[in-house]
Amino acid sequence: MSDTVGGMQRAAVIGAGQMGNGIAHVFAVSGHEVTMIDVSADALARGRDTIARNLERQVKKGALDAEAAGAALARIQTATALDAVGTAQIVVEAATERTDLKFRIFEDLDRLAPEGAILASNTSSISITEIAARTTRPELVIGMHFMNPVPVMQLVEVIRGLATSDATTAQVMALSRALGKTPVEVNDFPGFVANRILMPMINEAIYCVMEGVGTPEAIDTVMKLGMNHPMGPLTLADFIGLDTCLAILEVLHDGLGDPKYRPCPLLRKYVAAGWLGRKSGRGFYQY
Ligand code: NAD
Repeated sequence: MSDTVGGMQRAAVIGAGQMGNGIAHVFAVSGHEVTMIDVSADALARGRDTIARNLERQVKKGALDAEAAGAALARIQTATALDAVGTAQIVVEAATERTDLKFRIFEDLDRLAPEGAILASNTSSISITEIAARTTRPELVIGMHFMNPVPVMQLVEVIRGLATSDATTAQVMALSRALGKTPVEVNDFPGFVANRILMPMINEAIYCVMEGVGTPEAIDTVMKLGMNHPMGPLTLADFIGLDTCLAILEVLHDGLGDPKYRPCPLLRKYVAAGWLGRKSGRGFYQY
């Protein structure tokens, strides 16, 4: 096992959506054999197309040579059943953000993945401690929270559950560096660090829209020009997905029990209407 792959040669990624295909992409580029698994064959086909397109973009920008891009794509296998985890030494789960679904996936992975394999979740907010408790190997369960778009964003928030071992944490920190990322270690509390701080800001921006304090354009411009944020909070919310933002706020509200995290009623209304942001063509902006 070479250091360039962080001591782990074979990886599996569960979910081929916007995060899963990005995670498979960075593993493959840094030399890992990757199996990308999704219940939907369509999602796998779309995920693979996205990876091919993003690799091509990296070649055009001069960030990767064409041969390396071809080799990376050839390292990615796809499958629709979880038992394809095979001999993976690390599994990164990036399926839909639903607690019951993640619990079931980790119960299955615990049965199917090799003994000693690390089971990581890319969850934005669900408790790593609770996910780990569904397995017989909680010391090997950890959060690996990549940012969107994964091939571009530098950060991996590495989340230690209550039972996560020092050895697992050290391995995942090293692996994240081998993927070309900068890992930051945090502890398991609702929303971890990234979303504990980001989501209340997005929620407050939505209250400002609801109360007529400003238009979405005005609010985003204030935050961009005034705070030097590269994009405004409402543009970012549309990019993340308003359903995902609502799910994370519910976790903060339930988990911390403080009314300051209550999701803005206008956010609930948009999600109920199917206005989910970029992915549905309409959120605070039209696409
Ligand atoms: P997505 O909807 O784009 O993709 C989710 C994929 O999971 C879908 O392709 C779906 O078919 C698949 N799936 C559902 N059930 C499955 C199962 N049982 N087995 C295998 N695959 C299954 O969602 P996403 O935005 O990629 O988010 C995935 C995870 O990443 C979530 O936990 C989310 O909170 C987290 N996350 C998202 C972002 C973001 O900006 N979107 C950022 C960081 C983390």
